[in-house]
Amino acid sequence: MKRSLLPILCCPVCKGDLELRVTEENEVEILKGGLFCAACRVEYPIEDGIPDLLPRTPEE
Ligand SMILES: [Zn+2]
Repeated sequence: MKRSLLPILCCPVCKGDLELRVTEENEVEILKGGLFCAACRVEYPIEDGIPDLLPRTPEE
């Protein structure tokens, strides 16, 4: 996903802002990482450049 997408993405549960955590990126986009919701304490993974924003249970 491109960094420019971040402002339009929000948490599917609380609709809050997401914090981008990049593990791997190229000059075009983020390939691997996560989108963290501080309110829900959930991280949504980014795999192969695709953010997975399905609701999930918090990490303990
Ligand atoms: Zn949330």
